[in-house]
Amino acid sequence: MDYKKHVQIVEDWPKKGVQFKDITPLMNNGKAFKSAVDEIVEYAHEKDIDLVVGPEARGFIIGCPVSYALEAGFAPVRKEGKLPREVIKVDYGLEYGENVLTIHKDAIKPGQRVLITDDLLATGGTIDATIQLVEELGGVVAGCAFLIELSYLNGMEKLEGYDVLTLMSY
Ligand code: 5GP
Repeated sequence: MDYKKHVQIVEDWPKKGVQFKDITPLMNNGKAFKSAVDEIVEYAHEKDIDLVVGPEARGFIIGCPVSYALEAGFAPVRKEGKLPREVIKVDYGLEYGENVLTIHKDAIKPGQRVLITDDLLATGGTIDATIQLVEELGGVVAGCAFLIELSYLNGMEKLEGYDVLTLMSY
């Protein structure tokens, strides 16, 4: 499927110089969204996934339908102060800004096989931080799936040695 026709490019958002890839038109189209989710499910099928982990907020949008289809659990990775119980946390850099990501300490059992999902790989800071959280809890990162990779930001370099699926590249 030609997913790119469902991605809208927004110039200078959220700040000047950033060319934001808006995936909401893709989500808005039932056939395109289902096809994208199905491709990720197919990718994950042979990987024996116990748990899908996604960073807020668009990692939830992709990860939840995938976890449902795989009959796997879902664990949210959230910004600091959003999860109600004991968390572990990691500092990370974003394409535009700095942040802290957290996950509940009991979200992953050691040895569980994890698929990480997000809408987009840019500099790789978010996925790198998410992998750190998963591995600190003893999870095994069996795969990472994104709708979009911004190849000019070289995020893939942070994913060397990991199994990665991307549906679109810019
Ligand atoms: P990174 O940490 O790889 O630099 O940035 C990726 C994270 O920022 C993802 O969680 C993604 O949702 C968000 N992000 C950065 N740029 C874009 C963009 O152009 N479009 C969308 N949809 N998300 C972006």
